[in-house]
Amino acid sequence: MSEKMLSAGDYIASRCSKCKDVTNHTIVAMVENKVVRVECNTCGSVHNYRSVAPTVKPTPRAKTAATKTPRVGKTETEWAAQLNECKASDAISYSIKAAFKPGDVVQHPIFGMGRVINTIRPNKMEVYFRDGIKMLRCTL
Ligand SMILES: [Zn+2]
Repeated sequence: MSEKMLSAGDYIASRCSKCKDVTNHTIVAMVENKVVRVECNTCGSVHNYRSVAPTVKPTPRAKTAATKTPRVGKTETEWAAQLNECKASDAISYSIKAAFKPGDVVQHPIFGMGRVINTIRPNKMEVYFRDGIKMLRCTL
């Protein structure tokens, strides 16, 4: 890869500190093949050449995605928090024939109080109980 040869008097894009922008400049001085001084064609100031190569980019956002706790763990924590807010009076007694929807509070004879996370047609639901997520039969 050979770069296009530049020489004094050529135009080049440079960052101008007065314009605070990338503007067209005329090359004033060069050292070997490097542009060192340029004159801004917009404001006329002569300054050191500043490459228009991207400045420091913001930290990439994807960095934290694959690390930390698995999603299920977080979800369980969230459901556990919601479970703490459940009132027994809101609970629906669990029955295979009972109809549930996500968010409902379930009172189960063995597992105790739980919260419906998800319903799976035709007749199953995932319920978060204190000792974990259970798959239960229900009527949808
Ligand atoms: Zn300028």
